Amino acid sequence: MYIVPEKDIAALMTQEAAFDAVEGVFAAMASRDAYNFPVIREDIGHAGALYGFKSGFDRKGLALGLKSGGYWPGNVDKGLTNHQSTVFLFDADTGQCRAVVGGNLLTALRTAAASAVSIKHLARDDAKVLGMIGAGHQSVFQMQAAVRQRRFEKVIGWNRSPEKLDRLADCADALGLPFEAVDLQTLATQADVIISIASSHAAILESEMVTPGTHIACMGTDTKGKQEVEAALLARATVFTDEIAQSVGIGEAQHAIAADLIAKEDIVEIGAVINGNHPGRSRADQITLFDGTGVGLQDLAVASSVVDLAVEKGVAIEVAF
Ligand code: NAD
Repeated sequence: MYIVPEKDIAALMTQEAAFDAVEGVFAAMASRDAYNFPVIREDIGHAGALYGFKSGFDRKGLALGLKSGGYWPGNVDKGLTNHQSTVFLFDADTGQCRAVVGGNLLTALRTAAASAVSIKHLARDDAKVLGMIGAGHQSVFQMQAAVRQRRFEKVIGWNRSPEKLDRLADCADALGLPFEAVDLQTLATQADVIISIASSHAAILESEMVTPGTHIACMGTDTKGKQEVEAALLARATVFTDEIAQSVGIGEAQHAIAADLIAKEDIVEIGAVINGNHPGRSRADQITLFDGTGVGLQDLAVASSVVDLAVEKGVAIEVAF
């Protein structure tokens, strides 16, 4: 079996490879060639940690395995990142362990790739202004992946703690784009594409703020109780997601469903758009909303891709196991 350590991922994995892996697995999910297994997430009662597994099988790409890890709030004091994860891949024909892969950077790349896939398939072609809500760890990956999909001329951003917006400004600068810190109403008025990546438990963006034609990728809501946009916005928008079960249970749609503003049947798998079975955006003034909840198959797809790259470049550590 192979080991690809966390420290080697940055030099191996590219934005393009992550995008292709995630777009491919979303398509496979919609054609029922790939499916996610039920997610396990436990408060283990030690070190304040939340620990769990996300797993699945892609019959087409033959990715079988799981991502295991979670959140250790005390890690920062130890010089470690609070989110820790490792991907285990298994040979789909024999069940033998094929690879163990560092999952921290891959998580950021696969999450950013998901919103980028939604922008490719759902945003207006003439989108010029990218609006970012949230300036945490994930936000820069989101911006870097998004700008590859449209000819953005400007990035605008809002964060609950404005002093953290320097992170977005520096990222935009490195991408050669001007950045402006704005209030939420300005962000919603000016942005053609909005990415929200905040860990909020109450709506940040109100429905009436959002202008027709906007594409919104809601990426921060991945747990019951979290929320980034007002539920009424989902009733105004055409809602797309990575996986409908997760969208309804732990994604942004949980609130609109609970309030009877939309039905499960109103939500479209992004894979159906990728496969050409749904038109995606059909009008310039339509609001499209991608509820990116984060599925295990995304982790397996990018981990498989990085193992292939590591083997190809001769840097995968091979061990008899
Ligand atoms: P982080 O802790 O580095 O940053 C959190 C961000 O949320 C900051 O910008 C902070 O200002 C903002 N925030 C926190 N509480 C808020 C509130 N009440 N109102 C408004 N803003 C608030 O986190 P991160 O690693 O950047 O992750 C951001 C979110 O994305 C988290 O909720 C995380 O669980 C989620 N996430 C989703 C996926 C996915 O696949 N969908 C993957 C990874 C992370």
